[in-house]
Amino acid sequence: MFKYDYLIVGSGLFGATFANKASQAGKRCLVIDQRAHLGGNVYCDFVEGIHVHTYGAHIFHTSNKEVWDFVNSLVSFNRYTNSPIANYKDKYYNLPFNMNTFYQMWGVRTPQEAQDEICRQRSVISRQLNGREPRNLEEQALLLVGKDIYEKLIKGYTEKQWGRPCTELPAFIIRRLPLRFVYDNNYFNDLYQGIPVDGYNALIDKLLEGVETRVNCDFFENREELCVLAKKMVYTGPIDQFYDYRFGKLEYRTVRFETEVLDTPNYQGNAVINYTDRETPFTRIIEHKHFESFGQAVYDTPKTVISREYSTEWQPGMEPYYPVNDTRNAALYAQYKALAEKETNVLFGGRLAEYKYYDMAPTIEQALCLAKENV
Ligand code: FAD
Ligand code: UDP
Repeated sequence: MFKYDYLIVGSGLFGATFANKASQAGKRCLVIDQRAHLGGNVYCDFVEGIHVHTYGAHIFHTSNKEVWDFVNSLVSFNRYTNSPIANYKDKYYNLPFNMNTFYQMWGVRTPQEAQDEICRQRSVISRQLNGREPRNLEEQALLLVGKDIYEKLIKGYTEKQWGRPCTELPAFIIRRLPLRFVYDNNYFNDLYQGIPVDGYNALIDKLLEGVETRVNCDFFENREELCVLAKKMVYTGPIDQFYDYRFGKLEYRTVRFETEVLDTPNYQGNAVINYTDRETPFTRIIEHKHFESFGQAVYDTPKTVISREYSTEWQPGMEPYYPVNDTRNAALYAQYKALAEKETNVLFGGRLAEYKYYDMAPTIEQALCLAKENV
């Protein structure tokens, strides 16, 4: 007799969503996490009356109504709309690339003027490509927005973030960013967007209400004892570690956060400012209170908390944040995936187990799907 139906390794959004649905269906679940807290990367600390996104700024956005309704049935979301600003050598530009950016860059006022300028700037790369698809991020960016925007707002930031020249990065990374010929600074095209009013921990608490949990519990240190407790396992940790790195280690990019409390109520006037030049060592500064306090409410707390983000190569022992999308890692992951597909009692899911840069909403969508199929 097993004590639990499911052992769920990892209490991030994937594990917590699966546990929520499984326990509602009457399954007995145990969720464990190696960290001292639940929630994975959406976990927040509460500092000076402000929710601080400990593992990096998290903005919820989706066009999936089922996912949006699901999270809203658990907690309320605020009206935060992400509209980062780029600081290039002390001049400010709105993001994503839109009419405000084009006006700031070239003084153009109408969509036609902006399109003409971009067209003029990309004529060189168009000629070079001569109809073939862009092969790397540099070619793709030049083709999308031309030379000025590439050099001022993309090249430095991207090379800092990924630690590789743009000519060695895949083109699709830059296609994530919207390009619009309207005056609209909303970073996302999604229908729904916001941040839980009481922070992400409240969402995790709701998902895990009534579910048994253990923190400070590393699966690999307690593998034998844990595996006999449950009929099945949902594993959301790194897939290569599950198989003892037998084919080799998958690579990641990681971020070092330098977080400071400042004795001022409003440091930069915006939640996110990207530093897009190559020389500034950090990629961006996050001012956490702007995710949850708007207008005059910014002054309700006398201090502010900021985080500078330094993007670095991952080493064992660091937090694995961004999967590296290159051919070596894709081939390595395929080998691990083939092993995972043969498992009969283990389900794999989430960012680390699928080695995929999932945003929060797709993570929840996948976990809901897995629960529907299996519970
Ligand atoms: P995780 O949150 O990583 O959870 C996995 C859990 O498993 C962790 O708690 C870990 O401690 C635990 N674990 C691993 N190994 C073991 C083990 N051996 N034993 C026990 N426990 C283990 N998404 C958005 O939609 N919007 C954003 O703005 C956004 N910003 C982001 C910024 C950064 C810097 C990062 C890194 C991610 C961002 N994301 C964002 C993505 C978001 O964090 C993920 O989609 C989401 O957290 C994935 O949930 P998960 O459960 O798959 O993984
Ligand atoms: N990017 C950029 N300049 C910016 C912001 C983003 O060049 O000011 C590029 C960068 O290469 C990044 C990609 O656009 O990897 C996608 O940006 P997004 O904000 O979606 O990245 P995330 O941090 O969510 O991976």
